Amino acid sequence: MEKINKLIKSFRDKGLKITPQRLAIFKILENNNSHPSAEQIYHNLKRGYPTISLATVYKTLEILEEMGEVKLLKINYDRKRYDPDCSPHHHLICVGCRKIVDIFEDYSNALKVPSQIKDEFTITDFRVEFFGLCKKCKNKRKFKEK
Ligand SMILES: [Zn+2]
Ligand SMILES: [Zn+2]
Repeated sequence: MEKINKLIKSFRDKGLKITPQRLAIFKILENNNSHPSAEQIYHNLKRGYPTISLATVYKTLEILEEMGEVKLLKINYDRKRYDPDCSPHHHLICVGCRKIVDIFEDYSNALKVPSQIKDEFTITDFRVEFFGLCKKCKNKRKFKEK
């Protein structure tokens, strides 16, 4: 995601208003590596901005996504989550608490694509998703088993 000043400019250039709510959404996303859902952003802002609506959060995220400022993560069972870091990276997903952790590792040499696929298909991008349990969730399951 671009710096907030640049985002404000891009929004204004498109004739989009910068409301205090919108600015608050930018601020929550800035340097945020928790991959929040729209609902989480909404709940975080509701206290400080009682007039904010979930629709505003969705709309703003939608615009940011169209502008290429956030990446929408579609992880099958989960709510849509948003990543303000659009640089190439991979994810580790806890199936217990659904925490998403960034992995900055180059797997391009480790992944082999069958040659017949390579002939017919040009691969432009790929992502690796690891699923598992974080330490906290692993410990919780241990307690339950006892
Ligand atoms: Zn967890
Ligand atoms: Zn990420």
